[in-house]
Amino acid sequence: MTSHDVVVVGGGGAGLRAAIAIVQADPRLNVAIVSKVYPMRSHTVSAEGGAAAVIAADDSLDEHAYDTVSGSDWLCDQDAVEAFVAEAPGELLQLEHWGCPWSRMPDGEVAVRAFGGMKKMRTWFAADKTGFHLLHTLFQTSLQYEQITRYDEWYVTRLLVDENRVYGVVAIELATGRIQAVTGRAVVLCTGGCGRVFPFTTNGNIKTGDGMALAYRAGAPLKDMEFIQYHPTGLPFTGILITEAARAEGGWLLNKDGYRYLQDYDLGTPSPTPVLRSMELGPRDRVSQAFVHEQEKGRTVDTPYGPVVYLDLRHLGAKVIDTKLPFVRELCLQYERIDPVHELIPVRPVQHYMMGGVHTDIDGATGLPGLYAAGEVACVSINGANRLGSNSLPELLVFGRRAGIAAAEFAATGNTDPGPAVRAQAADERRRLERDLLARRDGRERIADIRTEMQHTMEGSAGIYRDAASLVKGADKLRELRERFGKATVEDASRTFNTELVAALELEFMLDVAETMVACALCRQESRGAHQRTDFRGRDDERFLTHSLVFLDRAGSPRVEYLPVTITRWPPAERVYGR
Ligand SMILES: Cc1cc2nc3c(=O)[nH]c(=O)nc-3n(C[C@H](O)[C@H](O)[C@H](O)COP(=O)(O)OP(=O)(O)OC[C@H]3O[C@@H](n4cnc5c(N)ncnc54)[C@H](O)[C@@H]3O)c2cc1C
Repeated sequence: MTSHDVVVVGGGGAGLRAAIAIVQADPRLNVAIVSKVYPMRSHTVSAEGGAAAVIAADDSLDEHAYDTVSGSDWLCDQDAVEAFVAEAPGELLQLEHWGCPWSRMPDGEVAVRAFGGMKKMRTWFAADKTGFHLLHTLFQTSLQYEQITRYDEWYVTRLLVDENRVYGVVAIELATGRIQAVTGRAVVLCTGGCGRVFPFTTNGNIKTGDGMALAYRAGAPLKDMEFIQYHPTGLPFTGILITEAARAEGGWLLNKDGYRYLQDYDLGTPSPTPVLRSMELGPRDRVSQAFVHEQEKGRTVDTPYGPVVYLDLRHLGAKVIDTKLPFVRELCLQYERIDPVHELIPVRPVQHYMMGGVHTDIDGATGLPGLYAAGEVACVSINGANRLGSNSLPELLVFGRRAGIAAAEFAATGNTDPGPAVRAQAADERRRLERDLLARRDGRERIADIRTEMQHTMEGSAGIYRDAASLVKGADKLRELRERFGKATVEDASRTFNTELVAALELEFMLDVAETMVACALCRQESRGAHQRTDFRGRDDERFLTHSLVFLDRAGSPRVEYLPVTITRWPPAERVYGR
């Protein structure tokens, strides 16, 4: 057992920002960062397009707030959004001071670009490798603090909870197979999203919803799990993202007839040059839904990897592509053997982001004393039913910092020592891992088969469009898969980098998360943002202007309750784009 004041789980953007905030808030505290991958391999590194914060003279905090609120289809908490837009510019400037090379205008001012659903230009960027530079800046800053100890490539399997309070985690050191408790007076979950629950996603392999399941099993509810974002432009087959920045710089979406089809979907009219309200910069939910309608009309192109439309960047020319979108050109050349300077890019919607997550307040606190969460794992919520592109990176910073400060305060005052119950739990977990998983060699089921079936079940039942029949079928299938997981085999008994064991643990977490998504989607009998029910077409503010909260009940099934949405200044209205 090793002890720290605060344990941060996750070394991505949110985790590093939280850790820095903790030691800056109280230099006496020592912090553990436990991460299943080396921090620079966290998914934040792959963010391309940029980070939104008000800086231009013609912009205002209220406009950023309103775009976020209407983009969320009024399901966000407006007090959280107000704090977010107010603190985001300071966070991005702070990163500049720590060394982040933001792209600049010729006169030296910070450059901003347009982004989907944002009616002003406010997305800061570092070419189209924003996440790499942002994460690197945070990582190198964190290295200054000797109070931060890193546990790189340690996999957290359980939260330690006693008398309704969190005391740390149990983790496996992947290089040795050692199973150990890492205790702390507060824990901050920064474990990112859960895109791998779906078969076709922009998310890295490591995004398996571990932190959501850890909190859920420990009794902290998850919020708004039915809201799953599809990004309109993924490369077919790999799901690799072609950033929205490609459309912000003036890219067009064309159907099989070469027609800019978005003009038929109430998202604006075609414009020859990039303009803020151009239809290609509609919000992601609407643009992805338009693709499904084009497919139904037979206006998409069939490929061995499913139907596609085209992203056209040819008119931008090599100079703009090479300076503003170099990574897009690199990805297309390497993965599709297509040069966007001369050729059309085939694209289709792909699962991208999780609006829901661990229910927290505006300071990252969950209902479980000592447990905090920030970043994609958490639901504060500023994203409601649909996140606007480029709001997530500043969210990690603003709420990573807030959660860090709140956890530091809690750890400074909280009771110190975990009691015997915590030690017993850690021993229990060690036994479970040794006996139930590492020694499970005679099962009849394979982890990979169950995972593939789960992913296809989720796409079929809880994809861009859902209805009661598909969701009920999905819930039944997930129950069956959970039973089969109990009979799954882990053939690899080695201690050193046992990736099969990790795959088994990740699958178990994903099954939990998938069940909560389907349960919440079934209960929400309306269509809002990214949650579109073909059997309940309209938005129903009377019944469903509420967050879903999902708890794990005693029988091991999800139980859904509701929580009012916080409205401060912007009463619900129609979402209007392109007018
Ligand atoms: C391809 C892509 C492009 C994107 N582009 C943009 C963009 O341009 N702008 C924008 O605003 N947003 C963008 N996003 C979204 C945004 O990047 C993510 O939401 C955000 O980076 C998530 O950061 P995080 O710190 O919450 O989690 P992550 O960066 O995913 O980090 C999670 C951390 O948790 C650790 N972890 C997880 N489980 C465990 C466990 N069981 N034990 C120990 N450690 C664990 C991992 O090791 C990792 O360090 C993009 C996302 C993708 C996928």
